[in-house]
Amino acid sequence: MRYKHLFGPVQSRRLGRSLGIDLVPDNICSLDCVYCECGTTRHIISTRGHYVPVSEVLLELDHFLAGNPLLDYITLGGTGEPTLHLGIGMIITHLKEHHPEYKIAVLTNSTLLADSEIRKEIIAADLILPSLDAVTTDIFEMINRPAPGFTPEQMIDGLIQLRREFRGIIWLEIFLVPEINTGNDELHLLRDAALRINPDRIHLNSLHRQGAEPWVRGMPKDDLHRICRFFRECFSETYII
Ligand code: SF4
Repeated sequence: MRYKHLFGPVQSRRLGRSLGIDLVPDNICSLDCVYCECGTTRHIISTRGHYVPVSEVLLELDHFLAGNPLLDYITLGGTGEPTLHLGIGMIITHLKEHHPEYKIAVLTNSTLLADSEIRKEIIAADLILPSLDAVTTDIFEMINRPAPGFTPEQMIDGLIQLRREFRGIIWLEIFLVPEINTGNDELHLLRDAALRINPDRIHLNSLHRQGAEPWVRGMPKDDLHRICRFFRECFSETYII
């Protein structure tokens, strides 16, 4: 069978051996992050849809998993924001009912988490990896270039609700862009927001490959370690990834 919606398994830095499901191909996302390693977002949208047929995804999953592959996670992510797909809940439910031996991870940019229905759809996952790169609106717009209507406050509220409702593990990712979200004020705001969200871990990320914009650079190692120490004052489970 030729898989159109599955990729990997790949060896992921965070997730180990991970089978990816790409629910939103063609760079469909609610953000257009300057550091995105998938390149510039082609379709910046906030509306949900059936961007790929759920029936095809389920067929591919059943076929692939029939071989009992060794996996650490099945990961809903891909080249855009997976919660934009209206079928994400159905896919998670199917996996839990028919392949309960596999753990499910969801990568999300957090934009849609203020919606309680969407939180309900992903709550059966085992691990959720949301992102939050800025608290100040100007910095959020500079780094994440959102579709109209999204704000950092709304994302933080959604993340706080998610923490209350979700029994699984949350690893909050903060992507650091030198001189944009790495000043003292923004770092304090991010740490305060993280304290309210209360994730199980914080992952500090920085550019490893070419981002969407050529001016984005990786963080110098010393700065990254300094910021990691700053977060560890409140979160011992802070890691550079
Ligand atoms: S949220 Fe993720 S997929 Fe969307 S633009 Fe940002 S980095 Fe790329």
